[in-house]
Amino acid sequence: MSSPNVFQRASAADLPVAVKGDGIAILTADGRRIIDACGGAAVSCLGHSDRAVTDAIKAQLDQLPYAHTGFFTSEPAERLAAMLVERAPEGIGRVYFVSGGSEAAEASIKLVRQYFLEKGEDRYRIIARRQSYHGNTLGALAAGGNEWRRRQFAPLLTEATSHIAPCHYWRFAEPGESPEDYGRRVADELEAEILRVGPETVAAFMAEPVVGATMGAVPAVPGYFACIREICDKYGVLLILDEVMCGMGRTGHLFACEADGVRPDIVLIAKGLGAGYQPIGAMLVNETIHQAIATGSGAFQHGHTYMGHPTACAAGVAVLTAMEERDLLANVNAMGERLRSGLEARLGQHPNVGDIRGRGLFLGIELVADRDTRAVLDPKAKTHARIKSAAFARDVMCYPMGGTIDGVHGDHVLLAPPFIVTPGDVDEIADRIAAAVNDVL
Ligand code: PLP
Repeated sequence: MSSPNVFQRASAADLPVAVKGDGIAILTADGRRIIDACGGAAVSCLGHSDRAVTDAIKAQLDQLPYAHTGFFTSEPAERLAAMLVERAPEGIGRVYFVSGGSEAAEASIKLVRQYFLEKGEDRYRIIARRQSYHGNTLGALAAGGNEWRRRQFAPLLTEATSHIAPCHYWRFAEPGESPEDYGRRVADELEAEILRVGPETVAAFMAEPVVGATMGAVPAVPGYFACIREICDKYGVLLILDEVMCGMGRTGHLFACEADGVRPDIVLIAKGLGAGYQPIGAMLVNETIHQAIATGSGAFQHGHTYMGHPTACAAGVAVLTAMEERDLLANVNAMGERLRSGLEARLGQHPNVGDIRGRGLFLGIELVADRDTRAVLDPKAKTHARIKSAAFARDVMCYPMGGTIDGVHGDHVLLAPPFIVTPGDVDEIADRIAAAVNDVL
C-alpha cells in the first residue's frame, strides 16, 4: 500500500502499488491483475509492456539521453516532428514539443498572443466552452470552463478568457431541434461572444473535437466545427483544437478533427503521443503563424527545460511507428464498435444509463436518475466515483467525472482502453463495467 511520504492526489487514498505492466493490464504488489480500460486517463494506447517502445527508449538512452534545445536539436525530435507534420491536418508545418497537455495548452495561449503582437494587433483573449478542460496550469485552467476545477483558484485565473456553450446535443438540444440547427445555434454563441468582448481583442477559440474527461466522450454534431471555422475566419480569430485526450488515434482517426473535416490553426496533442512510456506533448502549428514569428522577432518567447527531450521523442517515434506497422487504427474502429455494442447489450436498457456514446475506443457512459426523462442523479451521491470504485474492486479501471454545465449536473464514466485490445478483452471489459454499474445502481 502507499507510503506516508508521497504527496498523493487524494491524501486519504490508500493505493495499491503498481509493480508491472502486462499488456492491457497493470499488476500490483498484492497480486492483482487490473485491466486498464481507460488507459489511465486515455494515455496508454499501446498497453503497458510494449517491447518495441521500451527498446527504442533504451537505445536512445544509450545514444543520447538529453540535449538542451537552446543549444541543439536531436535526431528523434526532428524525426517525430517530420512524421507528425506529414500526417497532420492541412497547413500544419511546425511542431513545438513540450512535456504534457497543460504545457501544450499554455504554450498555445502565449503563442497566439505573441503572433498577434508581431502582426501589430493587440489581441489576447481566449474564448473556450463551458465544462471544458485544457489543463491544470494557470493559463490552461483559465481557458478551461470546468467550474469544479476552477472554483478555488478563481482569483488567480486571468479574465482574458470567457466561455460559450459546449456542443452536447443529447443533453441540451431543444425538443425537435435537428443536429444541424443545434450545431449552428451553439456555434453562433461564438460570434455573439466575439462581438460582446470586441473582435479586435480575441486571439483564439479553443475546443476539444471530442470532449473527454469533463463531458464523457461527446463529439460535436456534424457541421458544428464548419460553423466555428467560418466564424473564426470572419473575425480573424485562430482555432486551437485540443486533442490532448482525443488525439493520436483514440477516436479511430490519427487526429480526431479529421472526422469533422475542420482545418485548425493549432492542434495540441499529448497523452497518446508518448502512450505513457515517456512524458511528452506537442503544439502543432500552422506555418503562417510560425513564419510571422520567424520573420518578425525571430523567437517564440517561451520554453521549458525538457522540451524536445530526445528520449521522449524517441518514444513518440516508436509509438507512432507501432500504431502504423500494426494497423492499430483499424483495431480501434473495430474494437470500439464491439465495445460500444457490448455495452449497449449489457446496459442499454438499464434504467440509470442515459447514453452510451463516443468515437473509436473513446466511449462514455452517462448515468442518470431516469433514462426516459434524463433526470440527473443527485450530485452529492458522486455516482461516477462509486462506479470507479466498484469497477476497481472488480479489477478494471474506468475514468469517472461529474460536473455541472449551465446548472445541469452530469455523471459519467469514460472508457479508453489500449488500442491493442482483442475481442475477448473487450467482452471482458464490457462484462466487468456492466457488473460495476449494477453494483452501484
Ligand atoms: N487538455 C485535455 C483535453 C485534457 O484532457 C488534459 C488532461 O486530461 C489536458 C489538456 C492536460 O494534460 P496534462 O494532464 O498532460 O497536463
